[in-house]
Amino acid sequence: MRTFIIAIGLVAGSACGQGGEPAPRTSTPMNTIAEQYVKLVLAMGQHDPAYVDAYYGPPEWKAEAETGKRPLTDIDADAARLIEELGTSVVSASTPEQGDRETEVSNLRHIYLRRQLEALRSRVRMLSGTKLSFDEESQALYDAVAPTHPESYFQGMLDDLERRLPGKGPLADRVEAYRKQFVIPRDRLGRVFDLAIAECRRRTMPHMELPAAESFTVEYVTGKSWSGYNWYHGNYRSVIQVNTDLPIFIDRAIDLACHEGYPGHHVYNALLEKNLTRDRGWPEFSVYALFSPQSLIAEGTANYGIEVAFSDAERRAFEREVLFPAAGLNPARVDEYYDFHDLIDRLSYAGNEAARRYLNGEVDRQAAAQWLTRFALMSPERAEQRTRFFDDYRSYVINYNLGKDLVKQFIEARGGDDDTRWQEFIRLLGSPRLPSGLRQ
Ligand SMILES: [Zn+2]
Repeated sequence: MRTFIIAIGLVAGSACGQGGEPAPRTSTPMNTIAEQYVKLVLAMGQHDPAYVDAYYGPPEWKAEAETGKRPLTDIDADAARLIEELGTSVVSASTPEQGDRETEVSNLRHIYLRRQLEALRSRVRMLSGTKLSFDEESQALYDAVAPTHPESYFQGMLDDLERRLPGKGPLADRVEAYRKQFVIPRDRLGRVFDLAIAECRRRTMPHMELPAAESFTVEYVTGKSWSGYNWYHGNYRSVIQVNTDLPIFIDRAIDLACHEGYPGHHVYNALLEKNLTRDRGWPEFSVYALFSPQSLIAEGTANYGIEVAFSDAERRAFEREVLFPAAGLNPARVDEYYDFHDLIDRLSYAGNEAARRYLNGEVDRQAAAQWLTRFALMSPERAEQRTRFFDDYRSYVINYNLGKDLVKQFIEARGGDDDTRWQEFIRLLGSPRLPSGLRQ
């Protein structure tokens, strides 16, 4: 277990000292609705253990939710009432200019809270037995539908890989044998991750001001269906868990360090806590409902954050100079490995297809795993782990690749240079924007 304590300046004019006290919560109609939303999310947590991903609001609200299991029909009726109260009116429907940023933020807040409540109602329906198709579910929970690709879409990419790794037997076996040469040895994992996290932090910090109390710990765990997880505990602290059930390839060091840490989930949660919960006194961000549109923004920014933090050339240079040697790998093979990795990356939507077919009941677990091996080139062990992820998180899978693509498109439409990219990225992390709002 490792701790990283970050100490940098606070946002000018902020009332928030070492972690700080939240701004006193003012009793506005929006805050009253938002408080009730938080309590409904906590009540859902009693039915669905994965639902509340993070909570750092008043402990008594959580204690109250834990005293009994509110019937789903009551939760649903309350959510419907809150949606009714919110109504559809916002201050201005048009995209405001610079001077109207406050209007924009308050409109986004309104629309966002309404959509989060609608997603909560959809989750209630699912827990009550309603069966949604994969696409219906992702639209209802994450405000987005992933494109559907036929097998032929992936075949061209597989052909490119065939040319890169010629030989006998299934391509997936050759890919696995190749990848195995780039595993981080178990006894070097801690050191490699420390170096990756420190570099991601070093690249992120000059672009934003995070509270001085910000820190996290890293734990290595087993027996999970995911490969990494950020548990945000409030007060700018996270626990990041890395699953060591399967071999960890060298590319995962920077990917996970950025995704879970800087500028990904840890930073995202810390900025929401700082900007929205504390400075603005908005209660709704003290809770994070996992099966909600917020997750597409969270996963999309966490994945896109990797390329915000590192250009391709910068990443390869860092891998060559630091991470490959730390992992005991040959630095002369960095370009070869990352050229291969770029090709594999293009297959990411194959995972969505396997999930869609499996969750729609078109194929069973074994067939879904075989499909993942054939089209996403996963080893049988990794494919089996992935189907367990489908069981646990279902259409959540789209949040990673579609989320990244939507975030990338949204940010890059606003300017391509490095500084603009960082600024837009940070603004997105700290604002209540919906996935459908990324398409504007
Ligand atoms: Zn994530």
